[in-house]
Amino acid sequence: MKPILFNFTDKELETFVTDMGLPRFRAKQIREWLNRGAPDFSVMKNLPSDLRTKLDENARTLPVKIVQKLESSDNQTTKFLLELNDCEQIECVLMRTTYGNSVCVSSQAGCAMGCRFCASTLLGLKRNLTINEMFAQVLIAQWELRGDKFNTKEIRPNGDPNNNDVSHIVVMGTGEPLQNTENVIGFLERANNELNISWRRITVSTCGIVPGIDALNTWGRPINLAISLHAPDDELRTQIMPINNRYKITEVLDAAFRFSDTHNRQLMIEYILLGRKNQNGETELFNATPEHAEKLSNLMRGHNVMVNLIPWNTVDERDFASISGNAVHRFQDILIKNGVHTRIRRERGADIGSACGQLRLKNAKK
Ligand code: SAH
Repeated sequence: MKPILFNFTDKELETFVTDMGLPRFRAKQIREWLNRGAPDFSVMKNLPSDLRTKLDENARTLPVKIVQKLESSDNQTTKFLLELNDCEQIECVLMRTTYGNSVCVSSQAGCAMGCRFCASTLLGLKRNLTINEMFAQVLIAQWELRGDKFNTKEIRPNGDPNNNDVSHIVVMGTGEPLQNTENVIGFLERANNELNISWRRITVSTCGIVPGIDALNTWGRPINLAISLHAPDDELRTQIMPINNRYKITEVLDAAFRFSDTHNRQLMIEYILLGRKNQNGETELFNATPEHAEKLSNLMRGHNVMVNLIPWNTVDERDFASISGNAVHRFQDILIKNGVHTRIRRERGADIGSACGQLRLKNAKK
């Protein structure tokens, strides 16, 4: 396995460089490129080309290597298939939006949670990602936006196609972040510190691991918390999310409201609207009937929440169906009538398999 220079301390990088018989200042030059997210050595223009070749033979730059890059048809979403040093693969998504550039970061290779509607968990959990492996996903996106135009001083407004800053991070890729809480916290501290991404532009999404939510509370940063709820009662939720056997809805919501109240943040609730085909091939509403909307409203009442309704994105191996736009709006109207803030999530990158729940390990593809 080639060493990953990004993981080296400054001292180690210097030793590596001098061991190659190079002057010490090369270490500094290389470090600058690494901090910009240089995906390989060939882009390091201030190094002689034979040195770049030699480095390439002996080392890797970042702890994630781009294996494949997919661009959505509207050019707003880029999905990266990334390989880790032990050959595990993960995905990461860059979304260019009117409010800024957002990176969807994976926290684990695979996932152990077993949610019945999601692609990420099909092959189970491989392992937790390290702080550097998460941080490098953001750098990859930053490089995509900015390339080697690193010192640009020009500030461009959000929504400008030439805006070249990562402004938002959502930990909503593959994996359950609160099974890897310590590294996720370490990663976000660095993103805030080194990339200046403010806490308010960071969102961590969880299927509801209560001790993890409490740990975020103790950590004390005013990030946004999102809860993948997807059902308004325990009986239904247990059918689609095994984690509900462990932590019941009220426990999860209590912990989440504690977090959002303490930090004065609006809590985000994610709710996929699921249908199921019956024997006649018609789609029946699974968690999206008017009664479900009423029950969900009751859980939300009196709290500062935003319910994000997510039309289900197709996962071939999964036994669900999308519901009609009308059914989505009927559901939403009930929430609105009950005074619950809600919006329908605009899906990004469904044509390249990068919408919510479609991220997966590469070899899990049919
Ligand atoms: N494990 C964390 C982080 C993943 S976030 C969590 O559960 O929150 C990914 C979001 O996409 C979650 O809200 C997840 O429930 C949702 N999702 C999963 N499969 C989906 C699908 N097929 N269509 C739409 N959303 C899906």
